[in-house]
Amino acid sequence: MEPLYRKYPIFIENSLTGKKEIFLPVSDGRVGMYVCGPTVYSDVHLGNARTFTSYDFMFRYFKHLGYQVRYVRNITDAGHLENDADEGEDKIAKKARIEQLEPMEIVQRYTVDFHEVMEKINALPPSIEPTATGHIVEQIQMIKTIIENGWAYQSNGSVYFDVENYNTKGGDYGVLSGRKLEDLQSGSRALDGQEEKKNAADFALWKKASPEHIMRWPSPWSEGFPGWHLECSAMSTKYLGEQFDIHGGGMDLKFPHHECEIAQNVASSGHKGAKYWLHTNMLTLNGKRMSKSTGNAILPKELFTGQNPLLSKGFNPSTVRFFMMQAHYSSILDFSDDALMAAEKGHDKLLGAIETLSKLQPSESSTYNVQDWVDRCYIALSDNFNSPILISHLFEAVKFINSCTDLSIGLSKGDLQLLTEKMNCFAFDVLGLRKEESSDSHKEALNKAMDLVIELRAKARDNKDWDTADIIRKQLTEAGIQLKDGADGTSYTL
Ligand code: AMP
Ligand code: ZN
Repeated sequence: MEPLYRKYPIFIENSLTGKKEIFLPVSDGRVGMYVCGPTVYSDVHLGNARTFTSYDFMFRYFKHLGYQVRYVRNITDAGHLENDADEGEDKIAKKARIEQLEPMEIVQRYTVDFHEVMEKINALPPSIEPTATGHIVEQIQMIKTIIENGWAYQSNGSVYFDVENYNTKGGDYGVLSGRKLEDLQSGSRALDGQEEKKNAADFALWKKASPEHIMRWPSPWSEGFPGWHLECSAMSTKYLGEQFDIHGGGMDLKFPHHECEIAQNVASSGHKGAKYWLHTNMLTLNGKRMSKSTGNAILPKELFTGQNPLLSKGFNPSTVRFFMMQAHYSSILDFSDDALMAAEKGHDKLLGAIETLSKLQPSESSTYNVQDWVDRCYIALSDNFNSPILISHLFEAVKFINSCTDLSIGLSKGDLQLLTEKMNCFAFDVLGLRKEESSDSHKEALNKAMDLVIELRAKARDNKDWDTADIIRKQLTEAGIQLKDGADGTSYTL
């Protein structure tokens, strides 16, 4: 059978060219996708979760279309300095110092937290989740190659990428972000620590560790640590090759992180790395970017439990995911309690209609063109992963399902099957929504409540109060709970 990706080819907005382009993978039928993962020095916030959920949605769609996908999402556990540039303390080491823990205890704690959040939000695990500290050897090798190729220099035990030399010899630093080298050169000369660099725009590939810097490794140049941008170049090359398909991250990573990654890739292999560079837009709170450093971060955990003053209640993770999927990944998404309440309504209506659909019977013929609807859903998804348009099509189907007044839907057997299959697949497999299973604590509470109801009914029967006993049984049946009287007493089933 022809794979779905031939029928519904994907078009992607490529940040590298600024154009929407047809997606043609480097190797037919396979997708290599690299996404910059979290720096694990604090709990992931809802903005981080939005970015990773967007890429999970793409991962799911590629797989659904029949591609074989290798999805690499790294963990940054060293080298990311405080100011996102070449100076300051390592973010992880700083947290370790404050909490009087080993840096790897910090890494472990927040990696576990990240995985818990991803599991709750129903994001599939990536195929490979490499860490920066696990790839020091590969990073040192890449620096050696870049030096050999003449695009980096040593200075006082550190190694810097020579941006001006790179651009003079045919490199294109600025290709992604549109920044001009002249502007970058003039900008930051006054900053501390710039004296080691030939030019202000140069960036560190390796930094010599100061005596108090605890995360350090031996290298040909000094005992030190790799520059933040290098890990992604080294790990994407190692696991996906010098030329691969997709590279993703949030918009804030476009510059300097991804710009530097591209320069490193070209300087070491002659290729830019990925063909398609994607950037997710920001989750905002009152119009301001949610961020760890500005203190306006809401944690996914707080959203699930409702434990945040901005929230009127808790929301289940599938509702939170639906809230994110309602916006296109390249649009800003503003967080509010009202928006979550509205998403909850929509989410429950959609899942309710899918439940109704499973109970409907086919008719002789169809009054709704299901194949045309299926095509429109795929076209939306393949048009740069347009989840909001897909959701609007899903709601067109919801309207149709809910308009069926009796058990017969007005669809032939084949169309009913197709609609059922695709509604389920779009909602659960591709958008990644999840029917919430009742938690153990809910089950326990229900058992206790049912014990009480069964006891009250038994008392009513002992008192020959048949009316009360009948009302209890009838109302429970209406609520989907069946009572069963047996030799050992009364039990219930849902
Ligand atoms: P970090 O752990 O800071 O490196 O960030 C992890 C990912 O989350 C990166 O891809 C960021 O671009 C992304 N990110 C950070 N803040 C936001 C936000 N407010 N909205 C969406 N994505 C974000
Ligand atoms: Zn990265």
